This record gives sequence, C-alpha cells and structure tokens, in this order.
Amino acid sequence: MKYDVIIIGAGPGGIFSAYELMEKKPELKVAVFEGGNPLESRKCPIDGDKVKSCIKCPTCSIMSGFGGAGAFSDGKYNITNDFGGTLHEHIGKEKAIELMEYVDEINMKNGGEGTKMYSTAGTSLKKLCMQNKLTLLEASVRHLGTDINYVVLGNIYDKLKDKVDFHFHTPVEHVEKTADGFKVIYKDGSDECRDCIVSVGRSGSKWMEQVCNELDIPTKSNRVDIGVRVELPAVIFSHLTDELYESKIVYQTAKFEDRVRTFCMNPRGIVVNENTNGIVTVNGHSFEDPAKGTDNTNFALLVAKHFSEPFRDSNGYGESIARLSNMLGGGVIVQRFGDLERGRRSNAKRIAENLVRPTLNATPGDLSLVLPKRIMDGIIEMIYALDKIAPGTANDDTLLYGVEVKFYNMEVEIDENLETCHKGLYVIGDGSGVTHSLSHASASGVHVARKIASGN
Ligand SMILES: Cc1cc2nc3c(=O)[nH]c(=O)nc-3n(C[C@H](O)[C@H](O)[C@H](O)COP(=O)(O)OP(=O)(O)OC[C@H]3O[C@@H](n4cnc5c(N)ncnc54)[C@H](O)[C@@H]3O)c2cc1C
Repeated sequence: MKYDVIIIGAGPGGIFSAYELMEKKPELKVAVFEGGNPLESRKCPIDGDKVKSCIKCPTCSIMSGFGGAGAFSDGKYNITNDFGGTLHEHIGKEKAIELMEYVDEINMKNGGEGTKMYSTAGTSLKKLCMQNKLTLLEASVRHLGTDINYVVLGNIYDKLKDKVDFHFHTPVEHVEKTADGFKVIYKDGSDECRDCIVSVGRSGSKWMEQVCNELDIPTKSNRVDIGVRVELPAVIFSHLTDELYESKIVYQTAKFEDRVRTFCMNPRGIVVNENTNGIVTVNGHSFEDPAKGTDNTNFALLVAKHFSEPFRDSNGYGESIARLSNMLGGGVIVQRFGDLERGRRSNAKRIAENLVRPTLNATPGDLSLVLPKRIMDGIIEMIYALDKIAPGTANDDTLLYGVEVKFYNMEVEIDENLETCHKGLYVIGDGSGVTHSLSHASASGVHVARKIASGN
C-alpha cells in the first residue's frame, strides 16, 4: 500500500485534513489528489475585454485547484453553529466551535494575523432588526479578504508540499473498496490507501453522487437556495458592515411565510461571475486592503426551496433557473430595483445613467422573467424590510444581479466521525452536504484528521 491516507480534493476540507495529519502524525504517508491547478496557476480567462464570458475550461479555475472554491472567495470564516452547515449535528456544538477556532488560529499563524474579527455579541443592531421583523443571526467572523486568503493558502501549501504528495490535474474517477482499504482510480493509474478522505466540494457534487451509488452509501437531497445579489452604495449599509462586517439577517415574508436571508455580504466589494458546471451565476468578493475597496456593498438575498417526494433533483431545479438567465442574458442579468418595481427591463442606457455604478459587466435585463414569482415577491418584500434598518436599500438605483443560486450537495450518510458505512472512508466539507462554508469545511477536515491520527 503506497499511502496511509489519500485525500481527494484540495479545498479547505482537504487542506485542513492534510495540515492536521502533518502536525499530529507526520510519519503517515499522505497524498492529495486534486482535479484542478496548483494555486499559482489558477487563472480565470474572463478579463471583460478579450474574453467576456465563460469559455468552459477543462477545469474551472474559480472553483477548482489548491484552495478549492474558497481560493478567490472573500475569506470570511464565520465561527458559528447558526449557519454555514450542520457539522454540530454530527460532532456536537462545543466541538464544532472549538475546531472552527482552531482553524482560525492556523490561519493566523500562516499570514492572517492582523486581520479583523467581528462579532454580533452585544450589538444594538440586534434590537434594531427585531423592531423591524428581522432576525440577526449570531456569529463571530474573521474577514481575511480575497488578498490575505490567498497569502494564507500559499503559506499553508509551502508547509505541506514537502510532507504530502500533491497530484494536481488528477481528477479521481472511482474509489473502490479493497480488502484492507481503498483503491483510488484516476485516468492514468491508481493508488491504494488504508484511509480515504473525500472532500470534493460543490464542484464534485455529481461525482460524489456517483461514488455513493457505486459504494451503496445512502444519501438524501432536497434543498436549493435561489435569489439575487444586491449592490448599493456602501454608505447605506455602513452602520451594519462597519460593526459586524457580515450581517446574516433573516426575514419571514408576510405573503407566503417564506424565509429570505442575506448571504455573503461584501462591504466595498465587487460582484463577480461564478461558474458551476458551465452555468454562470453571480457571487461577490471584497478585499482586506482598503485601497482595493469600491464605493459599493453587495450581498445576496436568497430564498430556500425544499422539495418533497416525488421530486429529488433540487439542484437541477436551481440549474434550470440559472440556465434561463444565461439564455436571456448570455450570463448574469442586472436590473435596477426601480425598473423591476415598474415591470420593465433595464437597458444599457438606464444602467449607464444609474447612480450606483455596477462593478460587474452584466447584461441589463428583466429578472422577473427568470425568477419564479414566489421567490421574486419574497425578495422584494425583504428589500423593503431592509430599507427600514438601512434606509436607501429600496431606492430605484439599487442594482439586482441574477441569478444567485446556492447549490447544496446531497447529504451523505456519515456518523459522528464523518465516516461512511465503509470503515476508513470519510466524506467531509461541502461534498458531504453537511457543511456549506469555509470554517465548517475546514473544521470537518481537522476532525477527521484527528480521528485518523488517534489510530482508533
Ligand atoms: C466565489 C465564492 C465565494 C465564497 N465565499 C465564501 C466566504 O466568504 N465564506 C465562506 O464561509 N464560504 C465561502 N464560499 C464557500 C466556500 O468556498 C466553500 O464552502 C468551501 O470552499 C468548501 O470547501 P470544501 O473543501 O468542502 O470544497 P471545495 O472548496 O469546493 O474544494 C473541493 C476541491 O475538490 C476538487 N475535486 C472535485 N472533484 C474531484 C475529483 N473527482 N478528483 C479530484 N479533485 C476533485 C475540486 O477541484 C476542488 O478544488 C464561497 C464560494 C465561492 C465559489
């Protein structure tokens, strides 16, 4: 057997597994197989000039490679059990928080020191939200920013590279059970290991499903979040973002009693394209370095859709809606809130004259032709609710980009060790369906590495 442990996927889950194994049991032979590029070779060809839209690279540099989907993210590590995944349901609330704090310590040791930690503890904004039928969720958030996040990843890689075998450009095709472990099969060969940690994130969701079918691992799936990204002048939200950086606010609509929530807030940030399985959706970034800041803040407003029998393909539903926006707009669509409210599309002239300058070059259009009415109504209600705590949110010039879709992986059946029904086969991070965030995915990696290192 060539390896003690093989890790599939070099996102935060896989990286933190490798890091913890190196720290706790350096004598183990560990390999990481990653479908994408090393960190320094990750480059999306879209430059807004020569290449304006997705050219469908063999591996998407935004989602794949060392650092995973988190490499160019805003690097917000939320330390909380209130959102970002349900890791605590497997390992317990205290343990989950302890591991997220440990991950934060490692990030600080590797270039993150000096970045700011924000907290909702004791904030008066909680009361303001409550008074306006909004709920502010509890969290501490470390904001690394896209720039420092990249530095931290680079430093962690430098520590790992001589102790762990990295195989980049090597998407794993199959995992097979052997008499004393697992065989990991890729295009030009295979390797065997005793323990296998699968951490393939969102981009590996379809592959994960295949592995679960092949190895008879039970799964369930029923959720997708759909919505828009809102962009407005940073000053409108500055009282929230200056104190909390990221505020996770939930609203229950009066009309349908659906829950709409803010997600991924980027003060003075930029709106960006995201590519999931060839479908272009929208996301956002911001930077730790104030010099790189813009005049705008952006955040998503998402509505969760849960499906029940007989429909199981919640991600397929989300993809179809995103495809519709790609069909109408060639990619992401942008619309002024005032145009949406007046039932007309935005056009290039109205966007050019808009007081809020878009930070993403998206196609002006009509989001009401894309999003189901129930979701659109919920988003509009939420915008008016937010307008009460941040006046100006419902201004005509507020920009809405669509669609933003948060795909959830089907949930893989794993126990308190994050181990499947096959002893020694662990599924962690977003690929397990249990985590949906940097901190939860990273913490799940540490948890499994400690279990393996303990030898029990
Ligand atoms: C633009 C953007 C911004 C984000 N911002 C934040 C944020 O600020 N805060 C936050 O908490 N979360 C954020 N997220 C979510 C966060 O990035 C993910 O929750 C996190 O990266 C999940 O980590 P992971 O290790 O589980 O999976 P991933 O990071 O998705 O990594 C999985 C890796 O596995 C590889 N892989 C997949 N299949 C295979 C295979 N068959 N063989 C080999 N390799 C494979 C992929 O190439 C990928 O590199 C953001 C996501 C995006 C896309």
